[in-house]
Amino acid sequence: LSERLQNAMAKLRKKGKISEADVKEMMREVRLALLEADVNFKVVKDFVKTVSDRAVGAEVLESLSPAQQVIKIVNEELTALMGGEQSQIAVAPKSPTVIMMVGLQGAGKTTTAGKLALLLKKKQNRKPLLVAADIYRPAAIQQLETLGKQLDIPVFSLGDQVSPVEIAKQAIQKAKDEHLDYVLIDTAGRLHIDETLMTELRDVKEVSNPSEIFLVVDAMTGQDAVTVADSFNEQLDVTGVILTKLDGDTRGGAALSIRAVTGKPIKFTGQGEKLEDLEPFYPDRMASRILGMGDMLTLIEKAQQDFDEKKAAEMTQKLKENSFDFNDFIEQMDQLQNMGPLEDILKMIPGMSNAPGLDQMKIDPKDMGRMKAIVLSMTPQERENPDMLSQSRRRRIARGSARPIAEVNRMIKQFNESKKMMSKMNKGNFEGMDGLFGN
Ligand code: GDP
Ligand code: MG
Repeated sequence: LSERLQNAMAKLRKKGKISEADVKEMMREVRLALLEADVNFKVVKDFVKTVSDRAVGAEVLESLSPAQQVIKIVNEELTALMGGEQSQIAVAPKSPTVIMMVGLQGAGKTTTAGKLALLLKKKQNRKPLLVAADIYRPAAIQQLETLGKQLDIPVFSLGDQVSPVEIAKQAIQKAKDEHLDYVLIDTAGRLHIDETLMTELRDVKEVSNPSEIFLVVDAMTGQDAVTVADSFNEQLDVTGVILTKLDGDTRGGAALSIRAVTGKPIKFTGQGEKLEDLEPFYPDRMASRILGMGDMLTLIEKAQQDFDEKKAAEMTQKLKENSFDFNDFIEQMDQLQNMGPLEDILKMIPGMSNAPGLDQMKIDPKDMGRMKAIVLSMTPQERENPDMLSQSRRRRIARGSARPIAEVNRMIKQFNESKKMMSKMNKGNFEGMDGLFGN
C-alpha cells in the first residue's frame, strides 16, 4: 500500500520545473485574456514580463500541470498588483473627517456618496453629513436630498447660486456645530476633464482639507478610465478609487490599469444601484474576474486541495505506523499556514471528524513560534525519540530556546497526549482511512 503511494508521488515529483515553452504558451493566452478584459496594453506588457520572469524555472507543484502552475502564478501576481484589502476609511485626528467624491459625470459619485454615508452610519455608527456641492447638473441637489431622506441622513445644501467652496466651508462648520463626524462632499463632474472643473475641485480641497479624496470611476468605461484616473490623480492626489457598476458584465480590466497607472488603491466597488450595493475591494476576486478563467482557477484550487489531502494522507500513514515525532511536528508547523492545524487535517480523514480529544490538539497560532523554538533546541535524536527527554535535557532545551521549563514540559506533555490519543485511534478502526490511499 505505502509503496504504491510512494511510487505515485515520485512520478508526480518528476514533473520538475516550468519550461520556457510552457510559459510562452500560457502567456499568450493570458495576454489575450487581459486585453479582452480591457486592461491597458502597456500594463499588460509589463505584467506579462514580470510573470514570465518569475514563472520560468519555477517548481511545479505536485498535482498541477505546468500550465496550471503558470496560471497560479499569474493569479497571484495579479492579486498582488492590485494590492491588499484596503477598505478602511480614514479618520481625521480632529472631527469632522472630510471625504471628497470626485469623478466624471455619471460615474456614480452621488450614488456612492449615499452608499458610503449608509456604511458609515450603519456599520461604524458614525454621524455623516452629505453635502450637495454639484451646483451645475440639473436636479443634482435634489438627487442627493432624496438619497438623504431615504437613508435618514442629513443633507447640506445652499442651492445652486453659492460656490462649491463656500458650500464646503459652511457644511464643515455645520458639522462642527452639530457634532457630526463625517462630511461627504458630492462634487460636480463633467463629461470630459476640463481645467475649470479641476480648479474648482482644487479649491474645494484647499478649504476642506479632506482625509480622503475618492475618485469614482465607472468600470464599464474600460480604457478611458485610465486616462481619467491619471489626470484626476495628478491634479488632486486622490487617496483611493471606487470602481462602480461592477454588477455589469465588464471584466473589470480598468481595476488593474488604474491601480498600475496611478498606484492608488481601489477601496470599494459599486455592485448595483441600491444603496447597500457597496463592497470592499477584493483583489483576488478581481483577479479571477479579469482573467476570466474562473473554471481554470477552480481547477487549480481543487488540485491544491488534492495536494493537501495527499499531505494529510502521508501524515496519517505516519500516525498509523506510530512514527510521528518532533520532526513531523515541526514540519507540520511549517505547513500550518497553508494547510490549517493538525485537527483540521485529521478532520479531513473520514470517520475522524468527531473523534474525542480533537480539541486538545488545537494549537494556538500565537504559540507556534515558541513551540518551534523549543523543538529547534532539541538534538536530532531527541526529536526522533521524544521518550529520551529527561529532566536535565528539558532544562537544557529550556535554556537553549529561552523558554521557561514549565512551557517545555507542557509542550512535551501535549505532544505525548496527542500521540497517545492517535495510537488509541490507531488500535481502533482505520477502515475509513484506506479510501485515502486509493484502495
Ligand atoms: P454622478 O454623476 O457621478 O453623481 O453619478 P450618479 O451617482 O448620479 O450615478 C449615475 C448613474 O449610475 C445612476 O443611474 C446610478 O443609479 C448608476 N449607478 C451608480 N453606481 C452604480 C453601480 O454600482 N451599479 C449600477 N448598476 N449602477 C450604478
Ligand atoms: Mg452627481
